[in-house]
Amino acid sequence: MVGVKIGLEIHVQLTEAGSKLFCGCRSNYRGLPPNTNVCPVCLGLPGALPVPQPGPVEAAIAASMALGCRLPWAIVFTRKHYFYPDLPKNYQITEYEGAHGAPVCLGAVFHYLDPGSWEWRSVRIRRINLEEDPGRSQYGDGGIMASPVVMVDYNRSGVPLLEVVTEPDLRGPRDARSMVEYLLLTLEYIGATNPRLEGAFRVDANVSVGGGERVEIKNIGSTLEVERALRYEILRQTKIIEAGGKVERETRHWDSTRGVTRPLRHKEAEEEYLYFPDPDLPPLPITGKLKERARSRITLLPGEVYKTITGHGVGREVAWSITQHPPLARLYLTASEHVADKKTLARLLGVDLKGALKDLGRTPSEPETLPPPETVITLVKLVEEGELPYDAVRGLVLPKLAQNPKTPIESLIPEKAKVTDSLIEAVLMEERKALCDLLRGKKKALNYLVGAVIRRVGKAAVDPRAIRGMIEKKAREIERLCLEAESS
Ligand SMILES: [Zn+2]
Repeated sequence: MVGVKIGLEIHVQLTEAGSKLFCGCRSNYRGLPPNTNVCPVCLGLPGALPVPQPGPVEAAIAASMALGCRLPWAIVFTRKHYFYPDLPKNYQITEYEGAHGAPVCLGAVFHYLDPGSWEWRSVRIRRINLEEDPGRSQYGDGGIMASPVVMVDYNRSGVPLLEVVTEPDLRGPRDARSMVEYLLLTLEYIGATNPRLEGAFRVDANVSVGGGERVEIKNIGSTLEVERALRYEILRQTKIIEAGGKVERETRHWDSTRGVTRPLRHKEAEEEYLYFPDPDLPPLPITGKLKERARSRITLLPGEVYKTITGHGVGREVAWSITQHPPLARLYLTASEHVADKKTLARLLGVDLKGALKDLGRTPSEPETLPPPETVITLVKLVEEGELPYDAVRGLVLPKLAQNPKTPIESLIPEKAKVTDSLIEAVLMEERKALCDLLRGKKKALNYLVGAVIRRVGKAAVDPRAIRGMIEKKAREIERLCLEAESS
């Protein structure tokens, strides 16, 4: 694909900001009956005045800082006028620069990790607008084309939304997807959004091939779909060019069921929206105090986490597997201060606990799915000290812990899994002949002894390699027993 240029507009709801942008209604409306998360402000009733709320404003500034943006001296809101049933005021409050608005970010170079190549890449962010989400129209039977009724739910009306606009720096579909995923992860780390919530983000993609016209693809709902939609569209444009045709500048819609893009409508010119600064909202200065409060939200970022974990000697895949889930990353960082064997810790959390949760349809992105650090530290220490084979942790302990992360550690450790020194000694004393054979260098005797220990403790719980080591060590300690037996 020669000369592919992709730029993105990513709309992310600040679902974790607490309130809507200009009123106290909730930022996360999911699960509520229609039209119950509303008030005169977000219903656009006459006389109601918008008041910028601290939660969304701080979250937006924190997002801007975390993405490496230049901040303006003040946020200036503008009105974007259009008529639609889900927009009760008939205008949306946004920050259009062309009408003397000031966005919450004046530009940035954003660095992100591409887990396909393990390369760090960068994309220029042109600006980030803080704006309101409109309400939601729902259609009856037959959908938008045939339904006799349209129902409007204003629970979403006024929810804070970041519109992140990039320059056309992205090289391909996979690159675009990695960038969106890393951006969402960064916003999740600072507690601004939960990207797993339905409708928490939408992506519009601009794509051109070989210097041709750019085509906009609207309303892509997942990061996987970003990649699919772009693959399709690049192929479509390439075929037109190869056949000697010309790609038309247009807006298309991504039909994820059929896996194709379809023409939507001609793009409105920006002046048709009649933007002007919102007279109800004076410029909102970004004071030192406001910056401080925003900065206090940035306690951890994915890049730091990934570098710390790989710095512990953990492989990139496992390190990234942990980094992708902020609560799991925090658990790793806390536990890693107390254990020496960080590779085992990383494997336990990033591979096997994550796998056990996945088997139950859960994800370590939700803090309540995770055990307390003490439990994890104890488990890793037991493995380090040879008290508990790792296979037992994986096979017996983690599935229980995934079911109930609050299970006390005592009831997690299988009695039979405790391959202790004294158990090994007892087996060796009983199997005196095999012990002496082993000391005379017969390797078969070692396998026999491992088998004898496994018969004692049960198969599921053991790590044969660890037992082998323990037997060899113990055999050398009690060597004299054989010498005595031979001399008598
Ligand atoms: Zn409201």
